[in-house]
Amino acid sequence: MKRRTGQDRSITDTWRPATRAVRGGTARSEFGETSEAIFMTSGYAYDCAGDAAARFAGEQQGMTYSRLQNPTVEMLEHRIALLEGAEACRTMATGMAAMTAVLLSQLQTGDHVVAGRAAFGSCRWLVDTLLPKFGIATTVVDARDPQQFEDAVRPETKVFFFETPANPTMDVVDLKAVCDIARARGITSVVDNAFATPALQRPMEFGADVTAYSATKMMDGQGRVLAGAVCGTKEFIDKTLLPFTRNTGPTLSAFNAWVVLKGLETLDLRIRRQSENAMKVASFLETRVPTVLYPGLPSHPQHNLAMSQMEAAGPIFAVLLDGGRTQAHGLLDGLELIDISNNIGDSRSLMTHPASTTHNSVSPEKREEMGVTEGMLRLNVGLEDPQDLIDDLDRALGKIGL
Ligand SMILES: *Cc1c(COP(=O)(O)O)cnc(C)c1O
Repeated sequence: MKRRTGQDRSITDTWRPATRAVRGGTARSEFGETSEAIFMTSGYAYDCAGDAAARFAGEQQGMTYSRLQNPTVEMLEHRIALLEGAEACRTMATGMAAMTAVLLSQLQTGDHVVAGRAAFGSCRWLVDTLLPKFGIATTVVDARDPQQFEDAVRPETKVFFFETPANPTMDVVDLKAVCDIARARGITSVVDNAFATPALQRPMEFGADVTAYSATKMMDGQGRVLAGAVCGTKEFIDKTLLPFTRNTGPTLSAFNAWVVLKGLETLDLRIRRQSENAMKVASFLETRVPTVLYPGLPSHPQHNLAMSQMEAAGPIFAVLLDGGRTQAHGLLDGLELIDISNNIGDSRSLMTHPASTTHNSVSPEKREEMGVTEGMLRLNVGLEDPQDLIDDLDRALGKIGL
């Protein structure tokens, strides 16, 4: 009997999520390797000139050039699409390449975008600086309130762009409410789902049109490579995104694609354990610092909403200290185990001061408006024993008198 292939959607669509994560997208070469092969090649050879012509004309299946297609990269794209429940996926070199491509590929001068104001620093830069430079108007709203999206809509509004939970304020967006507003008006909703990943939250089930990822974060999950991805309908990916990315070239390398393929095999295990660890660490911190912003805690103002659209709250949360930057830096400097690092999604616990790192390029006024205060610290809880993390934080808090 023929072995089941990971690329036949009539088969893989019947698989349950855990099977998809391990086997989805796998295409074996003639060697029968169990782990996916890394095809480090820029080009492809043809049996005859006619084949080359037929492939370029789109009349023959096959690869032509690795900016356009690569077997390892396509395995990853199949796997992410399956996990997302999307018709199609395209990967990119980084998360920001994905965000840039998803916006620029569908927008033109005269269009308007409504975006969540709490967002990853570079995503805010796209909205505040890049798009307006090309005559694309943007409005930022408090994405916690769906009505603000509705009120900001203009006849020329083409895209809603937001993340949930948002970086680093942990604002939660009501996916169904906001995506319904977009649907009713023919607006494309684009959700940056990096914090949750499809293991915890599948925005398309709530009506999102497009999801975009920094796969650098939980999908790799071990702090090794940069990668990005965009999921949507086949029509959106093939007709809107692909012409842009094929010609501008933010292509993911085959090696990095392979690393993320391996990461996806353990994504579900890692993100659930890291969410459990984050709950323990956040519950401890709640007894010691003025504010903990974690959607997993009942004290989070949007706890119920978060839990209605996420399977767990994820590994990332923020704390607010009263003593501003001095106290926040003091806490970081007192840590002995948790690293001072601005990455997230790693299996190591990492902590950063967003105002002076990830959101340094956002003006102080905009930071204030986004809720990124001088006393805010963001924590990515890893796979270490949570008690060791609590001990480390306990010691560091003691050193700054908390
Ligand atoms: C990290 C991140 C990005 C950017 O991804 P890169 O892979 O670093 O380019 C975008 N959005 C969110 C929410 C992120 O956390």
